[in-house]
Amino acid sequence: MKTDRVRVLIRHTEIPRRAAGGGFGRFLKGDLKLGPIGHVALSTAIGVTVWKATGNPLAVPAALVTGVLIDGDHVLDWIDWIYQGYRKHMIVLLHAWELVVVLLASLMIWHHPIFVAAVLGYVGHVITDHLLNSTYPWTYFLSYRVYRRFRSEWLHKSVPPDPIVGPAPFWANFEPTVWKLVRWRRKRRILRDRKAAGVAVAEASRESAGD
Ligand SMILES: [Zn+2]
Repeated sequence: MKTDRVRVLIRHTEIPRRAAGGGFGRFLKGDLKLGPIGHVALSTAIGVTVWKATGNPLAVPAALVTGVLIDGDHVLDWIDWIYQGYRKHMIVLLHAWELVVVLLASLMIWHHPIFVAAVLGYVGHVITDHLLNSTYPWTYFLSYRVYRRFRSEWLHKSVPPDPIVGPAPFWANFEPTVWKLVRWRRKRRILRDRKAAGVAVAEASRESAGD
């Protein structure tokens, strides 16, 4: 247990250095990740596109079911997280490029509008998670996660906390979009307070210099 934590810490301390030089890549990875709100928006867009192309309105709920509800598999990760006391594993069984390949291949055989929407909703979810989450290139291959025994240090990068606002609260994992808004407001308030305090200090020192 202790050595596990040390290994996680060692690997995670590498991140800020790597991320610091990441530029646009760092901006994309992690900070733009989609929560339920983002996945609902993307899946709705996919569903509406299939609806317009095929004339079947059930494409919308079909894309929503697969594009949003696959994140239900995080529940297992959260239970494990609470049980272990830290993020030891990344399991997310339903997130798998292998399944993307199988489903896309099956579209060649069966192309009912509801099935097409459901497949594209799922594929859209995995693509955005792959591109935007703080993960490594092989993370979303289920076989790779099994190979790494679901160990978080091989699969998930810890994003350094905002130096002004501090670490994200646990609930930020549920809906990062809301956390981004809260963080932005907090940061603005902290910077404003600091500025006001700085002005007060400058005025005080000017007054004492004039004494
Ligand atoms: Zn996901």
